[in-house]
Amino acid sequence: MSAPATSTTDDRIIDGKAIATAIRNEIKERVATLKQDKDAVPGLAVILVGSRRDSQTYVNMKTKACAAAGIESLGYTFEDTVTQEELLETIRKLNKDDKVHGILVQLPLPSHLDQDAILQEIDPAKDVDGLHPVNVAKLQLFAGADATQAPFSIPCTPLGCLILLDRSGVDLRGKHCVVLGRSQLVGLPMARLLLGRDATVTIVHSKTQSPSEIVKQADVVIAAVGKALLVKADWLKPGAVVIDVGINSIDIVPEKPGGKTYKLVGDVDYEEAVKVCSKITPVPGGVGPMTIAMLLNNTLTSCERSVST
Ligand code: NAP
Repeated sequence: MSAPATSTTDDRIIDGKAIATAIRNEIKERVATLKQDKDAVPGLAVILVGSRRDSQTYVNMKTKACAAAGIESLGYTFEDTVTQEELLETIRKLNKDDKVHGILVQLPLPSHLDQDAILQEIDPAKDVDGLHPVNVAKLQLFAGADATQAPFSIPCTPLGCLILLDRSGVDLRGKHCVVLGRSQLVGLPMARLLLGRDATVTIVHSKTQSPSEIVKQADVVIAAVGKALLVKADWLKPGAVVIDVGINSIDIVPEKPGGKTYKLVGDVDYEEAVKVCSKITPVPGGVGPMTIAMLLNNTLTSCERSVST
């Protein structure tokens, strides 16, 4: 996964949508080759609990992306009254099902369910979200130079950010990277992946003092906080590279009666930051499409590993 960057009308803008489309086309070709050579079709089981509209939207997007790539997706939808045991039993069955190479539990789960216990029930070989403790530990212990070739699943969003940087020609070696956020899903694995590329990494979190002064020293900023427009242009060193993971909904005045009353923005004040940085991802159209592409990639590589063993 190291093809050159896709060009955009403005070279400062990292076009995540175009890069993700290129990767999805490569995945489609690999899926076809796998079918031809090994008669194997990658399968992704997607577990959705409850009726959260955002979760349903994400699951629909993932299901459509699977179909477009030739990956079989199997939906398991439960009422939000489902018991812990019912979910665990479903996962145990999927662990044993040879047609299933990836198991994804759409998060968050309703509060009566023990999310950690449910994620831990997934066979680590089928944990395409890379959140099982075995895969978390493997990432910490990984000694290879290129985590995109790691023989285990890495969380989709930080993996997607790394590949966005690669395909945009950003050399991370010796660079100061500041990661805002320290979640298991994004911030921590992101920091580890950057360390693996010989970057010098600082993590900023909610208790960090003077975050703007730390961000100002960064050659590369990865914002994964969930606070709309937190990172201002005057936080950035001129020429910095900015990857904005945040997805935040903010209220807007509709342009016409009945029009949209909200819009999605990142953690970075894009309109101003774009004037200062050398490269930046937009929201939407930056990191989001890469997360889905990496889910397909992780499902496919899990299938490739299962047929080669
Ligand atoms: P999370 O679990 O809520 O973690 C947020 C992190 O940000 C925490 O570590 C928190 O610090 C830190 N934080 C909160 N306020 C801060 C502040 N004012 N200054 C510095 N750090 C602060 O969120 P997440 O799951 O990592 O997601 C982060 C964002 O990325 C969200 O907007 C989410 O929607 C988005 N996201 C996007 C994608 C995508 O595909 N584009 C995928 C996943 C997530 P503490 O640890 O001290 O609380």
